[in-house]
Amino acid sequence: MKKSVLITGANRGVGLALVEVYLAAGWQVNACCRRTNHASELKHLQAHTDSLTLHELDVTDHQAITALSQELADIPFDLLINNAGYYGPKSYGFGNTDADEWRKVFEINTIAPLKLAEAFYPQLIANTPGIIANISSKVGSMTENTSGGGYIYRSSKAALNSVAKSLSNDLSPQGIISVALHPGWVQTEMGGPNAILSTCDSAQKLKTVIDNLTTKQSGGFYNYDGSVIPW
Ligand code: NDP
Repeated sequence: MKKSVLITGANRGVGLALVEVYLAAGWQVNACCRRTNHASELKHLQAHTDSLTLHELDVTDHQAITALSQELADIPFDLLINNAGYYGPKSYGFGNTDADEWRKVFEINTIAPLKLAEAFYPQLIANTPGIIANISSKVGSMTENTSGGGYIYRSSKAALNSVAKSLSNDLSPQGIISVALHPGWVQTEMGGPNAILSTCDSAQKLKTVIDNLTTKQSGGFYNYDGSVIPW
């Protein structure tokens, strides 16, 4: 039986590359995005394979998350990749942080991954070890923060790391691994054109890290090359 993965924010950037990498590896891929009718790359991929299913999902819509998990209740997922992310406005800083934008970023980067884990963990239990890969960012590391700023995005990813850690403790009895992963600085809309990694490189390296995860590594924060990132 094919392995199954659910990926959020799959219509572009790192998420789309993850879809391509897992399809190439022979997995059954459930790709979620906000507007399937605008997901032309995903539709193009779908036209050439039976292994890709598209689902419309705004990760901030908790009822939609529950409905999707019910719709897919029969699928024993091996992997959930919480990839959807949002940086928020770049033109804020100390003295002019927008609290509404902060809430929005937290909804997407921090709360949604937990809601997805809560909704899909029964399907992940069916496979041992089921894995929850939370795509975080190095800028969420306290140790790595030597330049300040980035209040909204940094704090949302630091909080996501905390979610990933608690999930690892809560779900380890059920054989589920939860980690936070940094995808590198990637050439996407978020990473910009000067980033060092292509989406394909990042996705392939993330898959290698995920493939090699052991239960002992659950609750950790890892770089795309597999090295540990300090909290
Ligand atoms: P992009 O900005 O290129 O893509 C973001 C993706 O998230 C899009 O598919 C977007 O969908 C989706 N998304 C945003 N909000 C929602 C929502 N409410 N519901 C569903 N999907 C949503 O980002 P990247 O591909 O660069 O980033 C992927 C992940 O990697 C993110 O978690 C990001 O924080 C992280 N990351 C990226 C780095 C980089 O250098 N690129 C560095 C470190 C971490 P839509 O098209 O509908 O907006």
